[in-house]
Amino acid sequence: MKALVTQFHALNVTQLNRGGWLYPNTTYEWVWRTNKGSSIEAVQITALKSAVELSILVESTRMLQRVSLIYSTGPHGGKRPWFTCPQCQRRVGILYHAPFHPFFCRRYCNLAYPSQYQSRDQSYDRRHRMV
Ligand SMILES: [Zn+2]
Repeated sequence: MKALVTQFHALNVTQLNRGGWLYPNTTYEWVWRTNKGSSIEAVQITALKSAVELSILVESTRMLQRVSLIYSTGPHGGKRPWFTCPQCQRRVGILYHAPFHPFFCRRYCNLAYPSQYQSRDQSYDRRHRMV
């Protein structure tokens, strides 16, 4: 049985980059909220020079997961960041996780992929708010 990605929390590297959240030595909380605005989960993120560290609360202990960043050059010369999946080392734009679990790419956890997410990264933005 496949789970839908919408049951997982998504972390989008392009969104982090656009917001300036990949700047080295930046630490912040990334919060997922319900439609009504209450907090579902917060992950503490520390941006490093070529990686991000994700601090995930697993029961009462914090687990630190380091995700390497790589950059590709686009057709117009701009640089585009990617996560390196901590599980399979593939280059991915979005990492997923369920609360209390580490992050991994879609392929690793064999998620069904809603077709509207295939081309663009639209629809995530409204659910991710900073505190
Ligand atoms: Zn993976």
